[in-house]
Amino acid sequence: MDYPGNLFVVSAPSGAGKSSLVKALMEVDSHVQPSVSHTTRAPRGQERHGREYFFASEQEFDALVAANGFVEWANVHGRRYGTSRRAIEERIAQGGDVVLEIDYQGALQIKQAFAEAVLVFILPPSWDELRSRLERRGEDASDVIEMRLANAAQEMAQADKFDFVIINEVFERALFDLKTIVHAQRLKYIAQRRARADTFASLNIP
Ligand code: 5GP
Repeated sequence: MDYPGNLFVVSAPSGAGKSSLVKALMEVDSHVQPSVSHTTRAPRGQERHGREYFFASEQEFDALVAANGFVEWANVHGRRYGTSRRAIEERIAQGGDVVLEIDYQGALQIKQAFAEAVLVFILPPSWDELRSRLERRGEDASDVIEMRLANAAQEMAQADKFDFVIINEVFERALFDLKTIVHAQRLKYIAQRRARADTFASLNIP
């Protein structure tokens, strides 16, 4: 399927800085929009239904799976998360870009469904730094941090299946890298021909 919009998928172990990077990207590039996932986990803090997630019961989630409503879904830390097929297709069919912040299992499913999807993996610069970011965040008890680090080892072993890797050592540099990946997609021949059809025509370029 050939859509005019781009689909970016960003995965990372928790603590690598994925959410901050994606948020910063969307602040400077309004053409890139998120897709709001469904989850069976409960809302935290200030989270609102329809903004961070669509919070669903197990039965509602089952019904969406049965109706083929998800382009991908996965079990992450014991809860289910899924990406709505319709929301993504509608936006990229209209030429908008979508960024998904999902785990690696979901990312690999997306690549199966959308061969053109661009998969980006964010790595921390070192184990020590990952650990200290998780500790500094102060959100998790120490046993949860140990579990997240153990999961991180498994998740990072999947980085070879991704198209791009960003090492988030200095935030501004990592953001530049992410913007560069997005920009490069827009410079592809097929994208330029669509965006600059008049120029191509006047230059007699196929
Ligand atoms: P959290 O519960 O902390 O918001 O997210 C936990 C994990 O689930 C994160 O790694 C996040 O990227 C992932 N996640 C969020 N939405 C989706 C989704 O729609 N599909 C998949 N596969 N993972 C998701």
